[in-house]
Amino acid sequence: MLPTKTPKANRQPEIIAIANQKGGVGKTTTTINLATALAATKKDVLIIDMDPQGNASTGLGRERNDRAKSSYEVIMGEVSLAEAIVDTIVPGLKLVPSTIDLTGAELELVDAEQRTFRLRRAFRDPVLENSDYVIIDCPPSLNLLTLNTLAAAHSVIVPLQCEFFALEGLSLLLQTIETVKANFNPSLEIGGIVLTMFDGRNNLSEQVALDVRSYLGDKVFKTVIPRNVRVSEAPSHGKPVLLYDLHCAGSQAYLGLAAEVLRRQKKPKAA
Ligand code: ADP
Ligand code: MG
Repeated sequence: MLPTKTPKANRQPEIIAIANQKGGVGKTTTTINLATALAATKKDVLIIDMDPQGNASTGLGRERNDRAKSSYEVIMGEVSLAEAIVDTIVPGLKLVPSTIDLTGAELELVDAEQRTFRLRRAFRDPVLENSDYVIIDCPPSLNLLTLNTLAAAHSVIVPLQCEFFALEGLSLLLQTIETVKANFNPSLEIGGIVLTMFDGRNNLSEQVALDVRSYLGDKVFKTVIPRNVRVSEAPSHGKPVLLYDLHCAGSQAYLGLAAEVLRRQKKPKAA
């Protein structure tokens, strides 16, 4: 079959992992809505769902019984990346869905050679020339799936919920990123920390935001994602919040985050 779009010569996508070993901090929400906001600026974007829970796939309207080829088959080397890519309801946004099978990958790969580099190997596929951004949704754990993602990514964006233990979890993740850099992927960068579910009426939210900014400085995105009921309603409609309610505060914040990601990438990388 002919590709639907002529690849731009030598296009190399920016590969961004969305990671935090804590569950419920906004990884999947950030994956879906950052990707949608980038696609809205006419970028070609590919989401890889690397969480066996498959919430990114569901949140984009991909039914569980309609995921014949998934990130599990990709990581096991049973299908190519190109074969697992499907369209979504968002123009310019494609998806490699996940299924619960992915839970088994860790055990099945225990003795596999180069088990941390399975995703990176799958990314050698020329189909990536069709994308400007690849955004990977990680599971809530520092397991082999997350390590595969960090080994394959250029940068990591960390969603951080403004709550009491946020900084503690963050330092564990930052240590893991250093370990991955030392062992698997020396050029991995921290793309940024994004404060999520921010509640301006709550003093704790304000205090955590201040602490995170004083600890990590300009690694923290200026854009803050507010707690917004429209953001939490959108997935049950199988839609990104940008399609569900473009004008709500959550959608506007994700557009702001995408603008920052685009600006940061334009800056020359430090030597
Ligand atoms: P993770 O992928 O880190 O486990 P999710 O993105 O699934 O986290 O978010 C956890 C829950 O919080 C979901 O029910 C989601 O809809 C909700 N949520 C995420 N971001 C927001 C927000 N900005 N405002 C309100 N609810 C949110
Ligand atoms: Mg998730």
